[in-house]
Amino acid sequence: MKAVVCDSPHRIRLQDQPRPQRGQGEVLVKISRVGICGTDYHIYEGLHPFLEYPRVMGHELSAIIVDSDSSSNFKVGQLVVINPYLACGTCHACSLGKPNCCMKIQVLGVHRDGGMCEYLVLPESNVLTADGLSADAAACVEFLAIGAHAVRRSGMKLGAQVLVVGAGPIGLGAALFALIAGGNVTIMDRDDLRLELAGATAGIENTIVANEDADDQVLRATNDNGFDIVFDATGNRTSMERNFKYVAHGGSYVLVGLVKEAISFFDPDFHKREMTLLASRNATAQDFEHVISSIKLGKIPISKLITHRTSLDNASAMLPIWAHDKNGLIKAMIEIE
Ligand SMILES: [Zn+2]
Ligand SMILES: [Zn+2]
Repeated sequence: MKAVVCDSPHRIRLQDQPRPQRGQGEVLVKISRVGICGTDYHIYEGLHPFLEYPRVMGHELSAIIVDSDSSSNFKVGQLVVINPYLACGTCHACSLGKPNCCMKIQVLGVHRDGGMCEYLVLPESNVLTADGLSADAAACVEFLAIGAHAVRRSGMKLGAQVLVVGAGPIGLGAALFALIAGGNVTIMDRDDLRLELAGATAGIENTIVANEDADDQVLRATNDNGFDIVFDATGNRTSMERNFKYVAHGGSYVLVGLVKEAISFFDPDFHKREMTLLASRNATAQDFEHVISSIKLGKIPISKLITHRTSLDNASAMLPIWAHDKNGLIKAMIEIE
């Protein structure tokens, strides 16, 4: 079968490799769509903190069941969403029902080979039925689930004043699910074009460009109170540190993005607000289900989210271009025949 392999930073190519063999409790699937993620661009650029090359990338996947156990819940030919977080099932986090932060987590396309290929084998417990969804929509579930998980973590109340910082796909997902949860949502980004595109896509009119005027705009937008809940989806230290001051007294700050360095804050600012600080990592099956039902209810503008397309044959040529040229780009999708 064909697979797109990243051999080392800036070296990506299409190669032929054997089709994987299925074991008991596993399903063999044929990949339909692969969403290209910031993580994939980072792997290509050599910016991923703990990645061993060579690697078949791809973790935003929809697929068709080709083979499964006779006792399986899935039928051959059925469209599925893939949950790419393979958890150990026995560690402390898993025993608490938090496989998204499993101590031994293996993410497809990161810790082990992913779905930029024709066929993949994975545990049946990592596939979800996508009945009623298009192959495109099913491949958007994973990145949207990251935002849905962050919103669930925040415990958002109806009418909460919400700020999402970072207007990439993850921030956009957080904004969409904050809207669904009844939040009054504002998006912030330093790139005004990306901000405009995100706002138009999500139907959000409240936008703030992260420039020298941003602090004043936050105060004006919130009657000088700041936001009840702030999500950071930038993965940028300066932004992550700055956003502490945008949180209202009694409010929460959720770090969805991450950086491989220390971040700091001025403790009195944190303390006087009695602020809640949360990390949000990956997503669980519950979040995947919430995303799937929200798509079915027509609450997610899937066709606007997918702005670029390519094939498996052309992906190794296009991915390096999209790693730099983000003009009009929200989500690029690889279509596999
Ligand atoms: Zn992703
Ligand atoms: Zn575990």
